[in-house]
Amino acid sequence: DSEPKKDDLQRIIDLMDGFKASKALFTASKMCVFDLLQSRPGLDAAQVAQEIKASVKGTACLLEACVSLGLLTSKQRACQKSVYENTDLSSHFLLSDAPFSLRGYIQHCNDTVWPLFSHLESAVREGANQREKAFGKTSKDMFQDTFYNSQEAKLRFMNAMHSIAKVTGRAVATAFDLSSFKTACDLGGCTGAMAYEFTKAHPGLSVTVFDLPAVVEMSEHFLPLHTDNRVSFVAGDFFKDELPKADLYILARILHDWPDEKVGILLSKIANACTAGCGLLLSEIFLDEDRRGPSRGLLQALSMSEGKQRSATEYGLLLKSHGFITAHVRHTDNLLDAMLCIKV
Ligand code: SAM
Repeated sequence: DSEPKKDDLQRIIDLMDGFKASKALFTASKMCVFDLLQSRPGLDAAQVAQEIKASVKGTACLLEACVSLGLLTSKQRACQKSVYENTDLSSHFLLSDAPFSLRGYIQHCNDTVWPLFSHLESAVREGANQREKAFGKTSKDMFQDTFYNSQEAKLRFMNAMHSIAKVTGRAVATAFDLSSFKTACDLGGCTGAMAYEFTKAHPGLSVTVFDLPAVVEMSEHFLPLHTDNRVSFVAGDFFKDELPKADLYILARILHDWPDEKVGILLSKIANACTAGCGLLLSEIFLDEDRRGPSRGLLQALSMSEGKQRSATEYGLLLKSHGFITAHVRHTDNLLDAMLCIKV
């Protein structure tokens, strides 16, 4: 047998170590290492340890691991202790108050996704989500029973959605010419982060965010500093209640959570609320048509929610059966793709 190629060996090692890197990132983020080094760059391991109330040995290992992952830089002046600073990458995405902060989503990955994935083998054997094993409760509706079962869990989930929506919102909001639409309704629009991006990108557009009452009651915690009141909130259940009237309906990261039957219920409600010419803007990770990627979408599917990941063609067919034609599909270079459909 020939020796393994160096690149192949590295690839497999990276895959084996991926979970350690994720957990190092989650832990440094949770322990506020990046926020600390932003306000006080150049601390050494003992100083960081004291501030984050951790052991010097453990902190030194965590900081060195972060340097190796490109999250921190270290400098050592002749025979002195290493001192640490954030890299551009961490200043951009890991500070609590950065415009593109992913900290909320990272916390969700640590506290919710990580426990679910630690039961992946059972999830694969059973073809079912592992919320009961991971969190000790049976739940029919993952939002009402798992994500929103305490105020703390709810805010954590909302923060996670908020951070992703802030990072992806502009790319989704500017993917298409929406100048013919005056009113939009963002179904499952959560904190309104996506809605604010839509109003920023389209000066003539007003957006109603429609979400569960438990979410809407917290929405003011996520108000941006500067807002001109073109975003409003309506509380309700999109499977049961009447949907607000709008020229354009937005479904961002909604359909992948639900099985075909529930998607059918929701899409027929939207179709009934629409007149000819109304739009439906769908934003999801679109799987490649041959289902070989992107792995972000395929790995997310392993959480075994009741829903599934679909390709743009699959979404297009679902929408077609409810009287929408696909006008444009846009693969953004951001985390979410987008598709604009028109009701005929
Ligand atoms: N659209 C947001 C985004 O892209 O950031 C949030 C997506 S999040 C995965 C799903 C959203 O759907 C949550 O805000 C959740 O509260 C909302 N949701 C779930 N079930 C709902 C229901 N029956 N009626 C209304 N909203 C619901």
